[in-house]
Amino acid sequence: MKQMHFTKIVSTLGPASSSPETIKALAQAGVNVFRLNFSHGSHETHRQNVAYIRQAEKEIGRPLAILCDMQGPKLRIGVFKDDYIELHIGDKFRLDMSPEPGDKTRVCLPHPEIFQAMTNGMDLLLNDGLVHLRVDAFGKDFADTTVISGGRLSNKKGVNVPGVPLPIDALTEKDKSDLQAALDMGADMIGLSFVQRPEDLLLARSLINGRAWIVSKIEKPAALEHLDEIIRLSDGIMVARGDLGVEVPPEKVPVLQKKIIRACRKGGKPVIVATQMLESMVANPTPTRAEASDVATAVFDAADAVMLSAETAAGAYPVEAVTIMNKIIMETESHDLYRQYLDAARLKPEHTPEHAITASARVMAETMEDAAAIVSYTISGATAGRVSRERPYIPVMCLTPDESVARKMSLFWGIESVTCEPQDLLVDVARIAACNCRKVFNAKVGDKIIITAGLPFNITGNTNLLHVYTIAE
Ligand code: PGA
Ligand code: MN
Repeated sequence: MKQMHFTKIVSTLGPASSSPETIKALAQAGVNVFRLNFSHGSHETHRQNVAYIRQAEKEIGRPLAILCDMQGPKLRIGVFKDDYIELHIGDKFRLDMSPEPGDKTRVCLPHPEIFQAMTNGMDLLLNDGLVHLRVDAFGKDFADTTVISGGRLSNKKGVNVPGVPLPIDALTEKDKSDLQAALDMGADMIGLSFVQRPEDLLLARSLINGRAWIVSKIEKPAALEHLDEIIRLSDGIMVARGDLGVEVPPEKVPVLQKKIIRACRKGGKPVIVATQMLESMVANPTPTRAEASDVATAVFDAADAVMLSAETAAGAYPVEAVTIMNKIIMETESHDLYRQYLDAARLKPEHTPEHAITASARVMAETMEDAAAIVSYTISGATAGRVSRERPYIPVMCLTPDESVARKMSLFWGIESVTCEPQDLLVDVARIAACNCRKVFNAKVGDKIIITAGLPFNITGNTNLLHVYTIAE
């Protein structure tokens, strides 16, 4: 059997990787989902990358999903007269609404919402948490602060207000125009940044109107208070450790990562662990051992996917980063310990025929010991997603007539997607499944495959069939 990686790889494109050759090489090295980061780059470069990805998909013969990630309401300071300043512990520093370039004593913070939500003693973290300010006094358009920990502050650095829910929408005006462009480009998934509450998703849903999936990025503590509801309203989740790790202290990130992954599995939604996974590979051809261990931890946690950001977008070794990530995944997944972790964390199926069938498919695979794959013939992808949730020992094939479903399902743990014409007869589904298992998984004549489907075919939400088929030719 061909060894596949069960845990999927998301790779962010940027100046280091926006060429047809590199995108194809990244896909060949194991990327399943490409992320276009709308915080950077023009619509033109994103559109160009979409064309390169679709070309690479044709050439390598495997579906690739495109995740267009919206910047969201990232709060930023204005600019400085001399581009940057140095702040020291104990310095007094003012934030205000004046657009004048800043200096050692003040800078513009062009977000009235922050001043609205302000309290005395409130903490503000700037430049990814490097600079820490505490509010001593404030008005509706200014705040006087003391520097608790200092450092360099340069133009337009990000501002986090840990633990304070802000009265802002998850989609800014820029996001709305980016969203339209992303949908026009054919995005499979839209990443929503700084989701704080379930209502944030309702607006996005109505704008997207079924044209793409929604991946909610969990990076605000407020979101953690409504996690299950946010998961229910999303199609996928990202553990966005970059901003999350500024909004909460770093020591809380590992447990939150595990909690979020677990909640996603329970809710049956795919989850991506993101940010700084192989960060040192931005500059170096090999990762630190701690980074290798971080990737393995996400794999042990049974995340659906792990993500590369700057490593593939702006680093010197984009293809190497994916290659090494893939090696770490494969090595971890091939170990007995991995299975023990997965089995220990398995969730009870829900009490519906669909869950009973997918849970049984996994039990059958384990009982038979020689089954080559579980194949779900599915219109919406939902059954394949439920099989993936079971984390079976053998690969899962999502066989679907819908190209866009095939692409999206490539984010799910363990799923390889293949498209086919709509079918009416089980014998034909079995024959097509067998043929593709031979191609994709190197299955042999005589191997058994376990097929899930719903009769009558081509209607969603009626999984009612489990079939064992022996590959005959
Ligand atoms: P970003 O999201 O890279 O868009 O900020 C990921 C994160 O915050 O971890
Ligand atoms: Mn972020």
